[in-house]
Amino acid sequence: MAIQKIRKNIFMSQASYKYCPSCQTKLTDQSLGGLIRKACPLESCGFVYWGNPTPVVAGIVERAGQVILVQSHGWPKDWYGLVTGFLEMNEKPENAIVREVQEEIGIKANVTSYLGAYPFNQMGQIIFAFHLTGEAGKITLCDEELTSYKEVAIEKLRPWERGTGPAVKEWLASRNLYPPNIERTSTSVIETANN
Ligand SMILES: [Zn+2]
Repeated sequence: MAIQKIRKNIFMSQASYKYCPSCQTKLTDQSLGGLIRKACPLESCGFVYWGNPTPVVAGIVERAGQVILVQSHGWPKDWYGLVTGFLEMNEKPENAIVREVQEEIGIKANVTSYLGAYPFNQMGQIIFAFHLTGEAGKITLCDEELTSYKEVAIEKLRPWERGTGPAVKEWLASRNLYPPNIERTSTSVIETANN
């Protein structure tokens, strides 16, 4: 979704707020809740940039012994990640990932298990990861968001260091598979939730 890119930019810009988004007063550094935070000095306003992580859902979509990985726009050609997306208002994470799988790769999938919550500090996100079983059918990519996909046999799947990588690593370990991480040397591209 193009929305995903817009939201990324919102996160980036919030982190560098100089003026209060509510009353336009210059923000100051204040010690709040045990950390130095950007906050509005006007008592009548009270805005604080808390930097709370944004909830993201991610899915290990398995079917016929393979996992479906996707590539987002702007990624190096050898980078693939899990299907991910942002929660909508009032949406449960387990429903959000089913919706995202349908939107991004065009197939139905059912949640098999919840894998855990994984902080992605570089992006200001907390990733709720699920294992899903994908139904048969042709994969149709959401062009706005993705450039390609691949289906990787589980025994050939390798995790990566950041983002959704730890969820993949732990899921593989639960199946007694301990492959080494993929080395991702490119750092110049914009990282996303899928990274
Ligand atoms: Zn203010």
